[in-house]
Amino acid sequence: MPTTKMMISLDYELFFGPEAGSVENCLVSPVTALLDVLNKYAAKLTLFVDAGYLIRLRDQATQHPQLGADLTAVKRHLEQVSQAGHDIQLHIHPHWEDSHFDGKQWCFDTSRYRLHDFNEIEIGRIVRDYKHELEGLSCHEVFAYRAGGWCIQPFDKIKAALLANGVWLDSTVYKHGLSEDPSRWYDFRHTSAAPWWYFSDDPTQEDKQGPFVQIPISTVPLSPLFFWKMALVKKLASRRLKPFGDGQVMPQTSGYYLSRLTQTTFSPASIDGVKASTLSQALNYHLRHEREGIFNVMGHPKALSPYSIEQVDRFLAKQRQMEYITFQDLRGTKIEIS
Ligand SMILES: [Zn+2]
Repeated sequence: MPTTKMMISLDYELFFGPEAGSVENCLVSPVTALLDVLNKYAAKLTLFVDAGYLIRLRDQATQHPQLGADLTAVKRHLEQVSQAGHDIQLHIHPHWEDSHFDGKQWCFDTSRYRLHDFNEIEIGRIVRDYKHELEGLSCHEVFAYRAGGWCIQPFDKIKAALLANGVWLDSTVYKHGLSEDPSRWYDFRHTSAAPWWYFSDDPTQEDKQGPFVQIPISTVPLSPLFFWKMALVKKLASRRLKPFGDGQVMPQTSGYYLSRLTQTTFSPASIDGVKASTLSQALNYHLRHEREGIFNVMGHPKALSPYSIEQVDRFLAKQRQMEYITFQDLRGTKIEIS
């Protein structure tokens, strides 16, 4: 049986709703708990770090000295994780540009939620500064990108900024994905059939001459029954299922819930909360459809729970032919994935 390559990445960020949550509970504790499990299997982790948060923390710490402790804690944590051989890559939530700390809490203005909501000069500055911020913490090069909220389209508006800053790999797309919320729109329904591909102007379409590489997040089809169970489980609120994160999410549109509760939808393969119970299903789907690619699983530290980490442990314990990689393993002149 051939080896399957697996990548585990987390979007390292606070909540963007009415309460941002704490550094300890949304970032440090869940990553530490997950790494305790991953270390048993010598599996490496990639953190897509919301770099705008770090920059805003430093800016606002001059007025609000209590933020200095948060900045120190996050930087120390990321440095330790990188020194232990894990990967740090670029995640951009540009609404940090418009958000501030009021002395008690973060006040988010998400009217410019997408990077596309900024002009091209601003986009160039954001990509440059955010990447530079992470390179100051990481032992390795930062060259991979995941768009905040999966909002990467239309790509032509952000392409030049990524190219100019040496960001040549994207891992935002998940096949069949769709968000119809206009402020957080993306459409991955018509995506290359290849397990990974080079691209130029459209991250969902292969262009063999393109300067970018797309490593899609793996996809898992989930039935309405899964989401009904998930809603029920949330009501039960057992301690094991309670996420580490202590903030509140941005509200979703009613269409978001309706579609998931009435038809099979495609989700990114994820270790968040109850979704971690679908890892075996996601791997089977991957092996049936994308055998030559990377089993690329994502999550968020804030959404991990003792239950989800236990599910990861159980899943990894069953794997005999798994090779764990990070984006650093894809560097080189020619990418060889399979
Ligand atoms: Zn994010």
